[in-house]
Amino acid sequence: MGGLGSGRHCWHFNTRDTVDDYLKLDIRELKRYNMPFGVSQPLTWSRGGQKIASINVIRHNSRFTLDYKYRGEPVRYDVDLDYNRGGKLYFLCPKCGHRREVLYNGEVFICRKCRNLAYPSQNDNKRLRPYRRLYRRAGML
Ligand SMILES: [Zn+2]
Repeated sequence: MGGLGSGRHCWHFNTRDTVDDYLKLDIRELKRYNMPFGVSQPLTWSRGGQKIASINVIRHNSRFTLDYKYRGEPVRYDVDLDYNRGGKLYFLCPKCGHRREVLYNGEVFICRKCRNLAYPSQNDNKRLRPYRRLYRRAGML
């Protein structure tokens, strides 16, 4: 048993994470749900037909309250909203405070820049990445 060739594989993860490695919270999708104000609504993510994460979202006039568990610990905080001059709705990233349409998961949902994420085209090996990585990242079931 053991011996040469059966041991560790040597992987090289020297590329940046891409946006596909994270769960997206997209303001355009939230708008589409037309959520009633002040009511907690579940929001779930699935991959390959399997639920991998779920959070509760409460719509307020000028913010969303996000309520979920991250690695077993309850997390709850507000994400402020802002409109541009054209009336388009944005999240204000909880970290940098800039207007963003999409936030990415972690302990707190923050924008692509704050997560230092690349777009898939900036890395070559993105298609080889298994969903397992995402399951682990999510940590929100
Ligand atoms: Zn940010």
